[in-house]
Amino acid sequence: MRNDSITLVLSAPSGAGKSTIIKRLMQKRSDLDFSISTTTRQIRPGEVDGVNYYFTTPEIFEEKIRNDDFVEWARVHNNYYGTLKKEIDRIQASNRIPILDIDVQGAKIVRSGLGNGIFIFVIPPSLSVLRERLIGRNTDAEDQIKLRLKNAVDEIREYVHYDYVIINDILEDAVDSINAVITCSLLKRNMMNGRVIKLLEEQIDNTFG
Ligand code: 5GP
Repeated sequence: MRNDSITLVLSAPSGAGKSTIIKRLMQKRSDLDFSISTTTRQIRPGEVDGVNYYFTTPEIFEEKIRNDDFVEWARVHNNYYGTLKKEIDRIQASNRIPILDIDVQGAKIVRSGLGNGIFIFVIPPSLSVLRERLIGRNTDAEDQIKLRLKNAVDEIREYVHYDYVIINDILEDAVDSINAVITCSLLKRNMMNGRVIKLLEEQIDNTFG
């Protein structure tokens, strides 16, 4: 893994709209690439192995843990989820910026390991909006929604481990804010070293006329 490029880490409580934000961001910027996590959870209708996740068995996942193949891994909702080192290498080799969609446990683990990690936490404008969104998704039973809301409050308390907090009230505004954060991060002095040095080494014709 390279330390001279940035990595985006996005977390959010379920229902905050993180997946939609990531999709929009990737449509806007061709320099981003989604880090495909490995998981042992069941594939959902519409999901594609190798696109949304690399789906695998607990046995194979545990073998990868023993082989030290992961940058981070965690158990979320009784399933394993992890980011393979190989996945970050793949994206960096193509000179693009990896986006990691990972939970708060995973973000804490990579906090110290990623040289130029940008940690972004997405929150809904209010808990009542979150509740409405969860109901609107029509995918969870009432007790599931109650549980997700309770978990959301616990997760939001973890915002202190992130650099930026984005409120997803109006989707395009949230996307623009994250876009701005990426742009600023790429303009930091340590990111610009190569460009400045190249400029200073440029041979110019000093004769006039
Ligand atoms: P879902 O099963 O709904 O796709 O994801 C459940 C949760 O797992 C989300 O909070 C998501 O951010 C998190 N997650 C997905 N991939 C990873 C990963 O590679 N590592 C960690 N720590 N969490 C992940």
